[in-house]
Amino acid sequence: MNLSQIRAALDSAGVRPAKKLGQNFLHDQNLARWIVEQAQIVPDDFVLEIGPGLGALTSEILKRGARLLALEKDGRLANFLREKFHDPRFELRYCDALDFDTRILFAERNVKVIGNLPYYIASQLLFRFVDFPNCISLALFMLQEEMARRLSAKPGNADYGALTVRLQLHHHVEYLRKIPRTVFIPQPEVASAIVRFTPRDEKRIGIFDYEVFGEIVKHGFSQRRKQLRKLLAGQIDNWESISKKISVPLTARAEELSFEQWIALTNLIAPRDEKIASQASAERFPVVDENDRQIGTASRLEVHENNFRHRAVHILIFNHAGEVLLQKRSPWKDRHPLLWDSSAAGHVEANEDYDEAAGRELMEELGASVSLDCIGKLPASAKTGQEFIMIYRGEHDGPFAFPCEEISAVEFFPIEIVERWVANKPEDFAPGFLECWRLFNAISS
Ligand code: SAM
Repeated sequence: MNLSQIRAALDSAGVRPAKKLGQNFLHDQNLARWIVEQAQIVPDDFVLEIGPGLGALTSEILKRGARLLALEKDGRLANFLREKFHDPRFELRYCDALDFDTRILFAERNVKVIGNLPYYIASQLLFRFVDFPNCISLALFMLQEEMARRLSAKPGNADYGALTVRLQLHHHVEYLRKIPRTVFIPQPEVASAIVRFTPRDEKRIGIFDYEVFGEIVKHGFSQRRKQLRKLLAGQIDNWESISKKISVPLTARAEELSFEQWIALTNLIAPRDEKIASQASAERFPVVDENDRQIGTASRLEVHENNFRHRAVHILIFNHAGEVLLQKRSPWKDRHPLLWDSSAAGHVEANEDYDEAAGRELMEELGASVSLDCIGKLPASAKTGQEFIMIYRGEHDGPFAFPCEEISAVEFFPIEIVERWVANKPEDFAPGFLECWRLFNAISS
């Protein structure tokens, strides 16, 4: 759209651009095309657009054949867009993007998020849409230039801050291009820039306690001119040796640490439980026959290498809204890394029964203790990895404390979303969970 087309569109929609909605409309269609090109959209993609406005980016996205869901808070613009784009692949929701339930996206394939963001809520939108865990393969945003610099800053730069570390932890953040004020109507007060987010390989991020990481980064940047040795004195009493271990100067300030060094610092403040790995290899499990009668015991390795029948428990935890808790298995699990799984699950060990194993797993994996109801049992088969699986359900609203070696995230999901997700992308789930979910559905319907 050029300038006069935008003026005509605003007139016909009855819209006077509102500053409080961050309404600055792009009137350079070549630039709109260039922006959309940077999202590398293909027909298989599911694109979510935040704040479509008069449709400058919308039309370019639709030309690429992808499905598009756009969220617009201004009702007059929402009506205008519905009139303008009659395309079966296009859905417009008249809503506040901050209220949008991002969990819906997990059920879609190849999700990309794009938007010339309304600047008054840009950081809240970033956290809502790209914070971990998410399922986004690429996000492309127009932001205030100053914020774009902060997000893509490197250590040692004055723009590098807690926001940078938190977002760069899970994403490569690229500053693509500065955008002058003159391409908008009305012109914003400051220049803008385009920033692209792509997920990092989770396996390369390292094992650490995410909560502790968040706290020390926040605390470390709370007085950015102060040296960490003084600022973190409450948590660290031997900064001299710690600073050597993470290879930073004794006088380091928060802005000098790369996110890898923040992770190393986290692991020194909250050492990981090395026992978990050694315990796992030493575990012995009951080996059972086709009727689930114990016929011996074997180590974890022997059980899996020889395909012996053995026993496992899966626990589904529901909150008061009836949503089910799923865990994302950590990248370091020997079996099914990075896949989504039941709230808690594990093997029945020697000298324990199914009920005892369920209580133990719930405590070990989620730090929770609630009464559990047994809802069914699956026979051992190739689909369950030769496990007899006893399935339990319980209620808990969280929060949960989980070991980062085992689990990288937990999240409640509405049942309908899990149903669509399982149907659209079964490869996202551990096979044992899929079997449990089938049985749970059969019982519930
Ligand atoms: N994409 C259009 C363009 O490039 O010309 C418009 C961009 S304009 C900077 C921001 C858009 O976000 C406006 O259409 C505004 O009405 C919309 N908006 C503002 N706050 C919103 C919110 N909370 N949720 C969804 N849309 C919002």
